[in-house]
Amino acid sequence: MLPEGIAVTETSCKTALNKTGIPGYQYCLNPYVGCAHACVYCYASFMCRFRGRREPWGTFVECKINFPAVLERQLKRLGPKGGSILTGTVTDPYQQAEASYCLTRSCLEALAPYPSLELGILTKSALVLRDLSLLQKLKCCTVGFSITTMSNEAARVLEPGASPPGLRLAAARQLSEAGVPVWVFIAPLLPGVGDSGEALSALFGALKKAGVREVMADTLTAYPLAVGRLRQVYRRYFPASLKVLEWYLKDSPDYRMIIDDRMNKLARDNGINFSSV
Ligand code: SF4
Repeated sequence: MLPEGIAVTETSCKTALNKTGIPGYQYCLNPYVGCAHACVYCYASFMCRFRGRREPWGTFVECKINFPAVLERQLKRLGPKGGSILTGTVTDPYQQAEASYCLTRSCLEALAPYPSLELGILTKSALVLRDLSLLQKLKCCTVGFSITTMSNEAARVLEPGASPPGLRLAAARQLSEAGVPVWVFIAPLLPGVGDSGEALSALFGALKKAGVREVMADTLTAYPLAVGRLRQVYRRYFPASLKVLEWYLKDSPDYRMIIDDRMNKLARDNGINFSSV
C-alpha cells in the first residue's frame, strides 16, 4: 500500500530497455518514474525537472503501464543476443506501487525466456521476496540491497519510504538461502551519520550475521539538489554531524582514504569480500 500523500498516475512509454553508461551494464530498466522511498540524498530527483513535475521528490510515482509489453517487443528484436540489464537506476523497482502494479514482476516474466541476458536488481525493499520463484528461474540474476545505515531512526529520516534496514537484510538472507545471488551496496556513505566507526561496525556485523558476503560501497555524490535537502535534514536531525558533511563536501579525497581504510578492516574482520566504487 502506498503511503499517504503520494500521487500515483498511470502513463505509457515508448521504450523499456534503454542504453546506460553505468559500468558493467548495457541497458537500464525503470518501470516507474519517481520513487516513494523518498530518499533525501537521491540523485534521481533530477527526474522532477525532466518530467516537468513541481512536487517534491518522493511524493509522486508514474507507473508505465505498457512497460512489460514494450519490453517483450524489444526483447524479441534483441533475440538471443546477450547483454546485461540493471533495474533500479532512477527509481526503486520494488517501491510500494509495485505491490499492486506488478510491473517489475511482469518484466521478470518477460526476461525468463532469455537466458543470455544478465539481470541486476537494486532495491531498498523487502518486497523483492514476493518474486523469489521468478528470480530462481532466471539464469543470471543478482539482487543488490542498498543500505546506508542500520539505525532505524536515521533510516526513517533519510529514506522514509524504504523497508527498514533489518528487513532488507532479512530479505537478503532469504534470497541467498534460496539460491539467488545477493550483495549489499553501502551507498551513499553519509558523512557523520553512516560512516562512523560505530555505525560501520554495526553495519558490517549485521551483514555478517545475515550471511552477506559481497559488499560494495560508494560515497555521496554531491548533486546540488540532494546536498540542499541533506543540509536541511542534517540541521534538523543530525546537527552535530553537519560539520562532517561540510568537510566531506570540501575535501572528499582525504575522506575517502580514511573511510576506505575503516571499511577494508571491517570487511576483513567479518570475512566479507569488499570493494569501493
Ligand atoms: S530508493 Fe533509490 S531511486 Fe528511490 S528515492 Fe531512494 S535512492 Fe532514489
